[in-house]
Amino acid sequence: MNNIRVRFAPSPTGPLHIGGVRTALYNYLFAKKQGGSFILRIEDTDSNRFVPGAEEYIIEAFKWLGLEFDEGVHKGGPYGPYKQSERKEIYKRYVDELLSKDLAYIAFDTPEELEKMRTEHPNAQYDASMRMQMCNSLTISKDEVEMRLQTGEPFVVRIKIEPEQEIHVKDLIRGDIKVNSSLLDDKVLYKSADQLPTYHLANIVDDHLMKISHVIRGEEWLPSAPLHVLLYRALGWEETMPQFAHLPLLLRPDGNGKLSKRDGDRLGFPVFPLEWTDPKSGEKSTGYREMGYFPDAVVNLLAFLGWNPGTEQELFSLEELVQTFSIERVSKSGAKFDLEKAKWYNHQYMLKKSPSEVAELLMPILKEKHISIDSTKLSQICDLVKDRVNFPSELWDQTFFFFQAPTSYDEKVVKKRWSAEMPNVLKTVASRIQNVQPFDAEKLEVEIKNYIETEQLNMGQVMNCLRLAMVGTAMGPHLHDIIELVGKEESVRRILKAAEEIK
Ligand code: GLU
Repeated sequence: MNNIRVRFAPSPTGPLHIGGVRTALYNYLFAKKQGGSFILRIEDTDSNRFVPGAEEYIIEAFKWLGLEFDEGVHKGGPYGPYKQSERKEIYKRYVDELLSKDLAYIAFDTPEELEKMRTEHPNAQYDASMRMQMCNSLTISKDEVEMRLQTGEPFVVRIKIEPEQEIHVKDLIRGDIKVNSSLLDDKVLYKSADQLPTYHLANIVDDHLMKISHVIRGEEWLPSAPLHVLLYRALGWEETMPQFAHLPLLLRPDGNGKLSKRDGDRLGFPVFPLEWTDPKSGEKSTGYREMGYFPDAVVNLLAFLGWNPGTEQELFSLEELVQTFSIERVSKSGAKFDLEKAKWYNHQYMLKKSPSEVAELLMPILKEKHISIDSTKLSQICDLVKDRVNFPSELWDQTFFFFQAPTSYDEKVVKKRWSAEMPNVLKTVASRIQNVQPFDAEKLEVEIKNYIETEQLNMGQVMNCLRLAMVGTAMGPHLHDIIELVGKEESVRRILKAAEEIK
């Protein structure tokens, strides 16, 4: 391992959004391409937003996707603990350091006082122009601060931002961004109420202590980056500050805004990798896994939401992505989610599967229906239909007739194709296929064609009526393949039954 170290740092506030999965994937690809480390850190300092089960969910999601972490909350490693709630003492040290250097201050303002500030000065923020009018260690005496602390009065620690400084954020995707510090407010770094730092402080301290070399995260964090630069400066860590890369947003299919769970529900695609049941409301949200997406397809499609290799190639295994990925080719503008493309990817990975792998996917459905079948035959069946499906759940609808005789016949097809001589035609076909040796698609085709041609029958009509007999409707793969796999006895039975029943 070299010194390329990246982290995925989710907050366990619910199921992982697919945008978060993409962030993690880009971190993974970036690190692995350069032989670096990929770390999972749980950012759970906001105890109000903690959701039980979310951390386990995150870990399971990456396991399913095949993105393995080198260090993390579930794996340990040399820079642990990897869960922020277990690092309280560490953060406290740096809060104290900032206070003693006069780069932060203690504020006692009550929620009411803050509210008053906002109503009296609607455009103001808690910053250099306002802080001297508020209740904090800059405006009250040392003794009073001591007294308030001693009586256990709740307080927060705020960063003291000097106005009119130029802050440079160097972003690998967006280039050099300059921000004037006067635009920033004195963000809260620590809250006495839960004795925890806020996201900003914990994030910087951890990235520094965990020797993170690159911070690759969603665009929504870009506005926080100048504050983070100031924090690195305040703590004397600017020299070793990680490099930033802020990823484009994942947008709704129409490009109007961020992709949300509601869009997914409305348009029929999941926005979470795995199914999730909200522990409070009991509301269930479906996941890519449960919808029948393959993990390698999800990885592939997510890689392309915001990045492209600059070639025509669209199908990439994880290893190929590692080889090809570069942060320079990540786009600046948002990436629109495209449901049809997502299905296309899954279809491509279905096609890549061997017949026996597809058979494995159909097996649970057959078991549920108490259908047992020879595994070689099942593989043959699956091989015939895999190019017709995107998801395992569609396999049954493409194969049911291999396992069950039709119980009814599609009226429309009957109307269009059936005629008075069909019963006799079918009876003849039934008797002629009895003698086909070996009973395979090739020989069956020769035999049936021969009959139709010598009798000068209508090829389309006969084949359609035979299909009605075998399948019940006008669907399915090659008819001769169906007859071969259904077998002689059962095929003959179905054909005679149709000859008898269809009127
Ligand atoms: N905890 C933040 C999140 O939930 C991490 C942001 C970052 O990567 O700095 O997205």
